[in-house]
Amino acid sequence: MNCPRIEVDLSKIRRNTETLVRGLLIRGIGVTGVTKAACGNPDIAQAMLDGGALGLAESRISNVETLRNAGIDGPVTLIRTPMLSQVDQVIRTCERSYNTEIEVIAALAAAAIRNKTVHGIILMVEMGDRREGILPENVVAMALRVVKMSGVSLKGIGANFACMGGEAPNAPQMAALSTLATEIEGLCGPVIRTVSGGNSANLPWALGQENAGRINDLRLGEAILLGVDPLSGDQIGKLHTDAFTLVAEVIETSAKAAASPVSQSHPALAKLRIAPNNDGTTRLILALGRQDTDISGLSLPTGSRLIGATSDHLVIETKSAALQLGSEMRFQMNYSALMHAMAAPDVETTLIDAKAPRKSQHEQRNSAHLALA
Ligand SMILES: *Cc1c(COP(=O)(O)O)cnc(C)c1O
Repeated sequence: MNCPRIEVDLSKIRRNTETLVRGLLIRGIGVTGVTKAACGNPDIAQAMLDGGALGLAESRISNVETLRNAGIDGPVTLIRTPMLSQVDQVIRTCERSYNTEIEVIAALAAAAIRNKTVHGIILMVEMGDRREGILPENVVAMALRVVKMSGVSLKGIGANFACMGGEAPNAPQMAALSTLATEIEGLCGPVIRTVSGGNSANLPWALGQENAGRINDLRLGEAILLGVDPLSGDQIGKLHTDAFTLVAEVIETSAKAAASPVSQSHPALAKLRIAPNNDGTTRLILALGRQDTDISGLSLPTGSRLIGATSDHLVIETKSAALQLGSEMRFQMNYSALMHAMAAPDVETTLIDAKAPRKSQHEQRNSAHLALA
C-alpha cells in the first residue's frame, strides 16, 4: 500500500454520526454533517448520511463539486458566505447557503432566476465569536429584504461559536438566537425552518440541557470525524477518536555520529540534529513532512518522540526495535493535521471497513487515488 496514506474507518464515522444523531434527536436537534476537513470526500459524506445526518455542509465549492460529481444528491449547504465570483456555481450545486451580505444575496437571487431555480438563504448572525455574521440588531431588517426578493427563499438563521474567539456558546446566547427567530417571524411570517446553533463546540450545551428552544440544527464536523470536543480536545462520550490514521514509511534508521558544528550553530537545523543515542533509543527518518500535514497535530505511538520535521522529513526517536527500514509508523491526527493531510496531494486516502462500497463514476475515475482496502 502507498505511503503516506490516511486510513479511514468509515464504520466509525457512521457510528459516531449515529450516536450524535440519537443524543440530539430527543432535544429536537438534527445533525448536518460538515465534510470540509475531509475535503468533500464522498465516501465520508455518505457515511455521515448513512449515520443519520439530515444533510451536508461544506465551506468550499470545489469540495461540493467533488460530492456532486460522485453522485451525492442529499441537500448541501454552503457554510462559508459565497464569493460574488462563484454565485452561479453555488446556485447549481447547493440547495442553501449561509449569508451575511445583502449584495451577495442579491447576486445569488439573480443567478437563481437565470438558472430557473430558488436558492435557500440562511442568515448568519454574529453572536460573539467575531468571525462572520450580521449583527443581531440588523438581522430582522436583512430578513425583511430577503423575503421580498424573488430567486431566493429565507430558510433560517444560524450562528457560529468558538472558531475565532475560542469560547463555547452559553445558554443565554442560544436563547437570544431563538428569540431572533421568533422576532423575524413576527415580521416576515413563519419562514424560519432552520435555527442552526453552531458547530461541535455546541455539543456540551446541546447535550447538557433539556430545552433547546428553537435551535433545531447543529453543523458537526470534528465531533463526527474525530470524536472530540474542539475546545478541550477531550473525547465526547464514547465516540470513536480513531476513525483516521496517518501512516508513513521509515526511510532511514542509521544513527548519526555527533552533530556537526553547522547544525548546532543554526537554530533551524539544530532542531533536526541527529545525535547518537546511548539509552536504547534509535532515531528514524520518515517520508512525511510539513507539506503533508500539520506535524504539531500528530500523536505518536507510545515509546516514540518527535525530534523535528522539515518540509519532507520527520525525525523520530523511538524505543521500538521493530521499526526497520521500510516499516510503517502510524499516527493519530488532530483536526488541523487531518485537514492538511486530506488536502495534501501526496497523501492517499484508503477506506477500510466500508459497509457497502459505493460504486460511483467518481470512484471509478479516481480509483488509483482512492483505493479500497
Ligand atoms: C467548520 C464549520 C463548522 C463545523 O465545525 P466543527 O468544529 O468541525 O464541528 C460549522 N459551521 C461553520 C460555519 C464552519 O465553518
